[in-house]
Amino acid sequence: MSNATSTVTNLRQHLIDPEICIRCNTCEETCPVNAISHDSRNYVVDAAKCKFCYNCISPCPTGAIDNWRHVPADAAYPLADQLLWDTLPAQVALDEGQKVGAGDTATPLPDDVERIAAAATSGQGGVAPPPWSAAHPYINLYSIQKPAVATVSGNFRLTAEDASSDIRHIVLDFGNASFPVLEGQTIGVLAPGLDANGKPHHVRLYSVASPRDGERPRYNNLSLTVKRVCSDHDGAPVLGVASNFLCDLKKGDKVNIVGPYGTSFLMPNHPGSNLLMICTGTGSAPMRAMTERRRRKSSPKEDGKVMLFFGARTPAELPYFGPLTRLPKEFIDINLAFSRVAEQPRQYVQDLIRARSDEVVRLLRDDNTYLYLCGLKGMESGVDEAFADICKNHGLDWKTLHDELLRQGRYHIETY
Ligand code: NAP
Repeated sequence: MSNATSTVTNLRQHLIDPEICIRCNTCEETCPVNAISHDSRNYVVDAAKCKFCYNCISPCPTGAIDNWRHVPADAAYPLADQLLWDTLPAQVALDEGQKVGAGDTATPLPDDVERIAAAATSGQGGVAPPPWSAAHPYINLYSIQKPAVATVSGNFRLTAEDASSDIRHIVLDFGNASFPVLEGQTIGVLAPGLDANGKPHHVRLYSVASPRDGERPRYNNLSLTVKRVCSDHDGAPVLGVASNFLCDLKKGDKVNIVGPYGTSFLMPNHPGSNLLMICTGTGSAPMRAMTERRRRKSSPKEDGKVMLFFGARTPAELPYFGPLTRLPKEFIDINLAFSRVAEQPRQYVQDLIRARSDEVVRLLRDDNTYLYLCGLKGMESGVDEAFADICKNHGLDWKTLHDELLRQGRYHIETY
């Protein structure tokens, strides 16, 4: 490989990790071009045959199949070598100037997803690194051409009948399809039908509201928090295509799902890490997922602090329900801001951050604190100002801290 010249093209070689492969033969059965074979020791991929269709990736139960090494195209690891491996070789540094070749990029993310993700993360200047201890996220396992088909197993209205918004808790079951997600990731929904131009509808992204082991543990399902959109940002009456499709779904209906997506807005896994979560409305979905993950894994000796600031119009419009609203204060410090309760002053998350400044600053000073902001784009500036003010009052420089948090994968923003 070291002999490669600047005119050599790179190959992103598909390999199977012999350490975690359980030799179940699923990949070999799935590969449409017979690029995967095995002997009594290892499963291997023939670089000359692999067409990067990714059919084998999602069915693999361990993820051993999802391994790649950049190599000069004329020096791919031969099958004979792969059959002898006990571990995967490290990525070898490539010479500068080598060209990108077949399979050098994974299946590109759909344009819609790139566009939405760029807008959602613009407040943090693009995709930030994940927490150092976050689990490995799988992304882009299902494409628009080959979506996963989920079955609706429940559609529950969270908001009161007389509330101004219709927010749903929707549970999707993936049956035998492998659809691994982590808290903080999103999935794409493909609404059926065509738009006004006769084209398929754009992909719409929703945050997963359940933890990685499912809405119900070991039930290969997940949940979404979906608000029925009936007007645009200016208040003009418009029916949101995907939200109305989802909110109208009945038990047993089928939905085409793409993704999952998201490699950054992920929770830390190490003991002692604190979560400082700030959300408005349905932006609570990833916070629910993270809270539920913590609750299920709860180990009081190891758990850090969990603090939540949550803004909603009224208590009747709070898309957080059931046992989550009755969690003990020692487990999660919940601060609810309601903006439209009759005869009460309007309250917003940034007001409560100021009101709880001592505790918030204590968390900000802790290197083990991870911040998450999700919901309306408008709240970004208000929250930023609140952080700047309380930091100033406590002798901290928010700008310096903010940049450090971003660099260390400790501040994550997803706003729409
Ligand atoms: P909403 O009900 O319109 O508003 C929730 C609360 O936020 C209200 O109290 C509202 O106050 C307040 N608010 C409005 N502007 C604010 C600002 N500038 N600063 C602080 N608080 C403010 O919220 P929603 O319709 O559910 O919107 C949630 C957002 O989250 C959407 O943009 C959605 O796209 C996004 N999101 C959704 C998901 C998902 O999976 N469904 C995931 C991530 C993000 P007022 O009474 O004054 O309006």
